[in-house]
Amino acid sequence: MFFILGISQKEKKLDYDELVVCKCCNKYGHIEVFLTYSYFFLFFIPIFKWNKKYYLRMSCCNALAEIEDELGRKIERNEISHIDLDKINLHCNSTREKICSNCGYLAEEDFIYCPRCGEKL
Ligand SMILES: [Zn+2]
Ligand SMILES: [Zn+2]
Repeated sequence: MFFILGISQKEKKLDYDELVVCKCCNKYGHIEVFLTYSYFFLFFIPIFKWNKKYYLRMSCCNALAEIEDELGRKIERNEISHIDLDKINLHCNSTREKICSNCGYLAEEDFIYCPRCGEKL
């Protein structure tokens, strides 16, 4: 008897779409929201998830923002149809940033290793 166990990282795009004037490039862009999480699996079945983090991305210029869990959960449950961009700290020019696949940290492009967890970016 043997077990197949493992830990993996997933990115899931949430079913949210809103057309807004982007704060970064001043063009119309779609807000996209996605969720990253780590999960532990057994026989390819996810057992539990942790490290859930929600992000927002503008389709126009790829500006990224980390969003609060509470807001993210509401978006996931389709409870809101409008995100107030004034309350969100958008990282403009984030084509120069990448997200750590291990812990979700937003790191500058120049980093080779994640400053938070040391994972190779
Ligand atoms: Zn933009
Ligand atoms: Zn990391």
